Amino acid sequence: AKISGKSQARLFDDSMHTEALRRLKLEHYLREANFDRDFEIKLQPIVSLESGAPTGFEVLVRWVSPGLEDVGPDTFIPIAEEIGVMADLGQWILIKSAETLASFDGALGHQRTVLHVNVSKRQILHPQLMPLLIELVDRYPEQRGRLILEITETAVMDRRANLVPRMEAIREIGFPLAMDDFGTGHSSLACLHKFPLDEVKIDRSFILNIEESREFTAIYHAIVSLADHLGLKVVAEGVETEAQLVQLQAMGCAFGQGYLFDRPLSPDDALAFMRRGG
Ligand code: C2E
Ligand code: CA
Ligand code: CA
Ligand code: CA
Repeated sequence: AKISGKSQARLFDDSMHTEALRRLKLEHYLREANFDRDFEIKLQPIVSLESGAPTGFEVLVRWVSPGLEDVGPDTFIPIAEEIGVMADLGQWILIKSAETLASFDGALGHQRTVLHVNVSKRQILHPQLMPLLIELVDRYPEQRGRLILEITETAVMDRRANLVPRMEAIREIGFPLAMDDFGTGHSSLACLHKFPLDEVKIDRSFILNIEESREFTAIYHAIVSLADHLGLKVVAEGVETEAQLVQLQAMGCAFGQGYLFDRPLSPDDALAFMRRGG
């Protein structure tokens, strides 16, 4: 027993060591990254649940430098935040999104496509953000109201950070706001009206239960109704099955996003998706 205890401790040490090394490596690569070379954006369709027609896309960043393709944003974005790289990467993502939207407008011959762009809590408060947004509306005035910024529920609800004044300023210059991952934090339905928001995205974890649980269906329905009542656009995240789609339609949920419609796509494939109408 003694021996195995010891070897277990060794194993533990080794894996800690490996983990720490991996983390250091990721930090190093992030610090040294050349954004244009090492990152790409993917676009996942958001569709009308009534007609199936795409309204636009959520922009999702990917790390594409060799050997790092499997490191997802859930892993590298928190690290980028911690080491202070996220403000610059976030800026790159916003500029890339605006350029992509401009090229879509040109290719489609209309200006109805919208893009949802994730912004981290620190990015929202960063002194770089407002000047960039002002520059973007200046350069692309036709995009006013069509670049929607997604902020997680946890960030919105953080009282100490108090994002509300900044959120108001952002909306004022022409960027609508969506609350992301609604239902994962500690906010209640009753709080929704207190924040300057245009949209609510209901977290994927919620939808997983609506097929089996009447309670979840009732809660989901309540969120959809209240958001509707408050004039907020509702997007159901993580729609994977026909059954979920049918239930969402029955609740009157207007928009959805998920593998049922499509995965995050390259900009070219996203444009094709838009062209053929879903
Ligand atoms: P999120 O903002 O909630 O984005 C949705 C995530 O769910 C994406 O993962 C997407 O690929 C995945 N997804 C979409 N539909 C389905 C589905 O039907 N089933 C399942 N199982 N998953 C689905 P991804 O791209 O790995 O991004 C993970 C998280 O990383 C995002 O969650 C967001 O919090 C963050 N993130 C991604 N891109 C950015 C970015 O450009 N900026 C910032 N600040 N955060 C980002
Ligand atoms: Ca999001
Ligand atoms: Ca989300
Ligand atoms: Ca999420």
